Amino acid sequence: MTNPSLLILPGDGIGPEVMTEVRKIIDWFAAKRGVTFDVSEDLVGGCAYDKHGTPLHDDTMARAQEVDAVLLGAVGGPKYDSLDFSVKPERGLLRLRKEMDLFSNLRPAQCFDALADFSSLKKDVVAGLDIMIVRELTSGVYFGEPRGIFEEGNERVGINTQRYTESEIDRVARSAFELAMKRDKRLCSMEKANVMESGILWREVVTEVGKDYPEVELSHMYADAGAMQLTRWPKQFDVIVTDNLFGDLLSDLAAMLTGSLGMLPSASLGAPMDNGRPKALYEPVHGSAPDIAGTGQANPCACILSFAMALRYSFDMGEEASRVERAVEKVLADGIRTGDLLNEEGATPATTTQMGDAVVAALDASL
Ligand code: NAD
Repeated sequence: MTNPSLLILPGDGIGPEVMTEVRKIIDWFAAKRGVTFDVSEDLVGGCAYDKHGTPLHDDTMARAQEVDAVLLGAVGGPKYDSLDFSVKPERGLLRLRKEMDLFSNLRPAQCFDALADFSSLKKDVVAGLDIMIVRELTSGVYFGEPRGIFEEGNERVGINTQRYTESEIDRVARSAFELAMKRDKRLCSMEKANVMESGILWREVVTEVGKDYPEVELSHMYADAGAMQLTRWPKQFDVIVTDNLFGDLLSDLAAMLTGSLGMLPSASLGAPMDNGRPKALYEPVHGSAPDIAGTGQANPCACILSFAMALRYSFDMGEEASRVERAVEKVLADGIRTGDLLNEEGATPATTTQMGDAVVAALDASL
C-alpha cells in the first residue's frame, strides 16, 4: 500500500517557523507509530513570488491537485504590500482554494480547559467546548451576479446577489453530515428562511440530504438566533452548517469564544477524489504575523492542530488526531505556553521550538 501523500507549503513570515514544529510531529509518527507520509515541500506566497515571479507556480498547483492533503503555513508580509494585486501572496492561496474547488470550510471552536480564562465568556460556558462550523466557501452573496455599484436615477445603488443552486447546498450539506457522523451525530443548519428565499431552499435541501443520514439528529435555526445561542450556551452545538456570509460571521464569533489566534486550525474540503478522500487544504487561521516573525515567539499549536485535522479528515486516523490534540492539551495544562497564551506579568513564555518539543514529549508520554 502506498503512503498517504502530503504537500507542505510553509509560506511566509511565521509559516516556516510553525511548520518546522509540525515536521517534528510527522517524524514522531514515522519513528514511534510506524505511520509514514509521503511528504513533499514547495513554495507559496511571497517566497514563491521571489523565486518564480508568481505566488503559486503551475507545478505546485498541479502537485496540490494530486496529493491526499495540502498543509499550508501562512502567506504575506509588508515586503509584498506594494505588489500588483494579481501577484500578491494571498493570490497563491486563493488560487489553491479556487482550482481545488474547496467548497466546505471547517472551522472548529474547541476550548482547552487550561485556556478557558482567555475567553471573553464565563469559564463554565466555554470550558470543554468542542464545536465545528462548516461554512460554504465558493458561492452565495460573495460571488452571486448581478453585483456592482450602479447609477439609478440620481443616486448610486450597491448590489450583491445571494444565489445558491440545489447542488451547491447539497454538497456542503453532505460534507457536514459526514462530519457529524464522525463526531456526536448532531447537525444544526442555520439560514434566514423567515426572510430569504435562498434560506427556504437551503432548509429544504438540507432536510432532503438528511434522509440519507438517519443517524444524525438534524435541527434548523435562523442565523441571527444562532449567533445569540452561540454566545449564550455554545456547548449545545456539535456541527453547524451554514452559507458563505453567515458562516463568515458565525465562524469568527465561535472561534473567538476560545481565546488566541495562535490556537485555531482550519480545513477546506472539496469533492472526493478517485481514492474517496476529499480534496483538502489545512491551514492555521492566523496570518504570517510579520510583527513576531523570526523572533521565535510564534505559537505552533494552530498549525499542529491543522495537521491533526488532516489526520482525522484526510487520512481516517481519528485516534491519532485525538492523540495530537491531547498532547497539545497536556502541554497547556502543564503551563508551557507561548507569549500569546500568557496573561500573567513576569511569566516566561516558551519559544516556538520549546512548544513543539513539549508536544513531542507529550506524544511520547501518551504511548
Ligand atoms: P496575523 O494573523 O498575521 O497577526 C495578527 C496578530 O496575531 C499579530 O499580532 C500576530 O503577532 C498575532 N499572531 C498571529 N498568529 C500567531 C501565532 N501563531 N502565535 C502568536 N501570535 C500570533 O494577521 P495580520 O497581522 O492582519 O496579517 C499579517 C499578514 O498575514 C498580512 O500580510 C496578511 O495579508 C497575511 N494573512 C495571511 C493569512 C493566511 O495566510 N491565511 C491570513 C490572514 C492574514
